[in-house]
Amino acid sequence: MKTLLDEAKKMNDRLISWRRHFHKNPEVGMELPNTTEYVMEKLRDMGYQPMEICKSGVLAVAGGKKPGKTFLIRGDMDALPIAEETGLPYESKNEYMHACGHDLHTSMMLGAAKLLKHHEDEIEGTVKLMFQPAEENLQGAKAMIDAGILENPKVDAAMMIHVFADVPHKPGTVIFPGSGPVGTTSDWFHIKINGKGGHGATPHLTIDPLNAAAHIYTALSEVISREVDSVEMAVVTVGEMHGGSTGNIIPDTAFLQGTIRTFDDKLRKFIKKRVVEIAEGICTSFRCRAEVRLFNSCPVVWNDKELNASLAAYNMEMLGQEIVLDYEAKTGETHKMNGSEDFAYVCEKVPAVLVKVIAQGNENGVNFPHHHPKVRFDESVLATGAAVYANSAIEWLKNHLAD
Ligand SMILES: [Zn+2]
Ligand SMILES: [Zn+2]
Repeated sequence: MKTLLDEAKKMNDRLISWRRHFHKNPEVGMELPNTTEYVMEKLRDMGYQPMEICKSGVLAVAGGKKPGKTFLIRGDMDALPIAEETGLPYESKNEYMHACGHDLHTSMMLGAAKLLKHHEDEIEGTVKLMFQPAEENLQGAKAMIDAGILENPKVDAAMMIHVFADVPHKPGTVIFPGSGPVGTTSDWFHIKINGKGGHGATPHLTIDPLNAAAHIYTALSEVISREVDSVEMAVVTVGEMHGGSTGNIIPDTAFLQGTIRTFDDKLRKFIKKRVVEIAEGICTSFRCRAEVRLFNSCPVVWNDKELNASLAAYNMEMLGQEIVLDYEAKTGETHKMNGSEDFAYVCEKVPAVLVKVIAQGNENGVNFPHHHPKVRFDESVLATGAAVYANSAIEWLKNHLAD
């Protein structure tokens, strides 16, 4: 539907002002009171009756006037605990930052809401708009599913958009990654090592937890190099490691925290098991006691083959072949990412697709990655994103009338 793109472009100033509002006023996790209030107010102005179905999780419903199936579009709204350093005029000053581009997603979703309202009489079924909190800690999607977002009416298919500042394609390119696993699983681990502190000059009278920590750190990386098939992709990263306070004291405890990523459920289970075994085994060897906790878990993001192909086709028709890249059809491979996305919980329940919109902004020619205090995103993709959200929903419903 070419008109959707034209309509989206006409509201570009509004899309930018919404996005800058979110950017300047970021909130994190499940606590997004101002963001959700702003979103709900805009939705009410458009004629919606939005509902906060769980803490900071907003559902709005479009269509339902004609019989048909139900399609869900999802945008996340949370920021990160990072102090921004972009120097942009709408820079955040509250020590939080939209460094993953979720401010763009929220604005695109509001744009899609406007387009869907305008075309509501033409919608052959129902569109659910999922404005989600807490993607970064992988809790929001699950909370909204637990609150019933996929039921009443039952969702038949779903899609989400993520903008990318660090994928080397032309800004504005819309990538349909292909089928199967496109985003990694996630499991965080926290290892507390309990030893027995004492004087640095008499280690024989202590049980040194730092020694165990050093061995655990080294052994964890060997799970990947020695125990995982080299054709598989898996990561074990220790991102936090500390213990002790000065040079002549052996502390009581030490800590390691890290994350496990894979594209395969069996491998995921194996690595989780090995992390626990290694931590406990090494602690036992060195007379320490390990407390291992796994959390922030999320399954693999699984793109549905048929849905990926059909959404790519609908949007290619709207945007043209130069803009839309049906990656698997073109290259025979899927466009995977090494990150995770809690939209994976939606993918577990219904056919779903993660769509990438390339949005590199740069500062004097330098690109920064996601989650960096200087990352910039290209706002010119907002209209494209809004149109892709709305077009995917309208066209899929039109082409999949209820049996
Ligand atoms: Zn992120
Ligand atoms: Zn993100």
